[in-house]
This record gives sequence, structure tokens and C-alpha cells, in this order.
Amino acid sequence: MVNFFLCMPFSDFHGNSEIVHRLREMISRDHLPHAVVLAGGRGAGKYTLALVLSQALNCLNPPKTDGLPDFCGTCANCTRIAQSCDLDARFAEAVEARENLRETDKKETRIFVQTHPDVLVIPPDPPQMMIKVDQVRRVIGTIYYRPAEGREKVYIFTDSAFMKEAANSLLKVLEEPPDFATIFLLTENPGELLPTIRSRSMTFTLAALAGEEIEGDLAKHHPDWKPAQRALVARLCDGAVGRARSFDLEAYTVARQHALVILNSALRNADHSELFKITESYRPGAEGREKTERLIHTLYSLLRDLMFIDSGATELIRNTDIISDLKRMAESANFEWITAASDRLAEVERGMRRNLLRSLSLDAFAVALEE
Ligand SMILES: [Zn+2]
Repeated sequence: MVNFFLCMPFSDFHGNSEIVHRLREMISRDHLPHAVVLAGGRGAGKYTLALVLSQALNCLNPPKTDGLPDFCGTCANCTRIAQSCDLDARFAEAVEARENLRETDKKETRIFVQTHPDVLVIPPDPPQMMIKVDQVRRVIGTIYYRPAEGREKVYIFTDSAFMKEAANSLLKVLEEPPDFATIFLLTENPGELLPTIRSRSMTFTLAALAGEEIEGDLAKHHPDWKPAQRALVARLCDGAVGRARSFDLEAYTVARQHALVILNSALRNADHSELFKITESYRPGAEGREKTERLIHTLYSLLRDLMFIDSGATELIRNTDIISDLKRMAESANFEWITAASDRLAEVERGMRRNLLRSLSLDAFAVALEE
């Protein structure tokens, strides 16, 4: 299944237009550096940009738009590269395939995503979630052969968490890269890469998008969302368009409803039956864990908004669609209370890591705030 929300022509790649323009110019002059670091927060578009550039480098009928190289999106190379767009799905398939191997083979198999012979995606290898030396060895073992079906060999490291030996091996490739290969290194924090790797690469830092740009993008991708919901998601995602598009609005709305009951119950010393009914629903197991994490995250986001109201910085509020509820709550929540609540929430988080019963620690959280 191709994820159409993630792969798109340059005209649909929002934001960072100067960087995109520069990279396309480099392709047109055949001057794209052999190692490109794409830095930026989660969802800023690093992976998408690396893939659309891979398509532009390998498209069989490359069109030009704005006088610069683009890709057709329909030729054999474009479509196969596009199958890598849904990274989570391809990654899960690769991990599952490894799980099904014999024990001895399992140990020697590393995770890769490859939907085109000349484009290799290298994600961190579980369970440590690090780039391992065997993964870099695969790069070394293939990078010096000319591309089989495209014009450019492309390697995309999706994370900068390299094991030491892996980083040193990569450095050797970067010292002598072949003319027909490009390595993309994606990172949220370029400081994680060896300085010697960075000095052999060209770094582009992708900025988060402005709220209105994301809202405009969401209008296209989620026409069913109301304008206030689009504004909310844009604010919650801090300018990360990928995260905004795949945002689970329904789950967030449920979590926020629960978070509001918990905070209101603590602020008003109200009867606890509604509160207990909610915390009861946070059960053990993987699903419960995800749900609880979402609740905690949402509680933080509401506490932060209360803090903004308390300090008069209402323009920074994220949950703008419920601002009147928040203002009402802020009347009884002063600075000390909000700080204490954040501290106690951090305790709940620590407890979760030790696998304490979720419902009990959530109850304790709400009740402790009443004192
Ligand atoms: Zn094409």
C-alpha cells in the first residue's frame, strides 16, 4: 500500500522552499553533495524530502517545474521508490520477516527497507534501535557498484543513533564516496553525528511550518475537520506537517476529555465517582499503556496552557478551541498548584515505567492535588 499522504511532488512539499530550491538546483547542476544531513524535529519532513529527492534523481521521465528537476511519480522508478514512503509499515514488515527466520539467521539479519534496487533505507535496528555496523557494511558492500536501474545510488539513514563502530565505518565511506551515490543522514540533533561525519556532509536544517501553512495543508488532507480542529492540530504539532497529517484527533479528543475531568475534579474537590470511572478504563497491557501515555501527554499540554493563562501569555495557548473552559479552570489554579500538578504528573510517569497500576496512580494523582 502506497501512502499517498506522505509522498508528493515538490509542488506539494510545504515549507522550507529555499532549501528545497537549493537542493533541486544542485541536482540540476549535478552538484548534489555525496553526503547530505537533513536536520529537523520529528515530522518536519526530513524523510519525505529525502525520498522525493531520490525520485527526482532516478525518475525515468523527469519533468521540469519552475525550471528545476522534478519527478513524474508514475514511472517504474518513481512508483517503486514511493513504496518506501510509509516507513512505519515497511519497517514493521521487515521486523516481522526477521522474526520468522530461524534463530541462527535472525541474529545475523539486519533491518532494511528497500523497494527499489538503487535506493536503500537504513532504519535503526531493534531492539536497541541503533544503526549497527552490519548495516553500514551493507552500504559499503553495494555503494561502489553502478546503479542498476536508476542514475543515482541513494542511501537514507533515518536516524543518527549510530553505534560507535558503525559511525567509524560510515566515515570510511564518506572519505571516498563514488560519484554516483548520495547518502542522506536524517537527524533531530546533528550533534549526535561524529564531527568528522558532519564535516564531510552538507547540513540542511528544516524549519517547522507556520501554523497557517499547516492549517492550509490540513484543509486539503482532512476536509472533514472543522477549522477550529485544524487550528488545534496545527498548534499541537509545533509546525511538523507530517505529524499534523497523521494526528489522531479522535484519540486526542477522548484523552483531553478525561484530562479535563481529572483536573476539574482535583480543582473542585468534587465527588470522585466520575473520576474513578475514567481512571478504571486505563488498564494494563500495551494498549492501555499507549492510552495512558496519551493521557499524561494531554494533561501536560493542559497544565502548560493553564500556566500561559496564569502568566498572561494567552497567545501561546494550544488548546485554543476550549479556551473559555481553560480560563474558568485557571481562576482556581494558581502558579503553585500548576507546578505541583506537573511534579506529581512526573511521578505518575516514573511509576508507569516501574509498571505500577495505572488506574491507582492516576487516582492518587488527582486526589493528591486536592490537598
Ligand atoms: Zn518518474
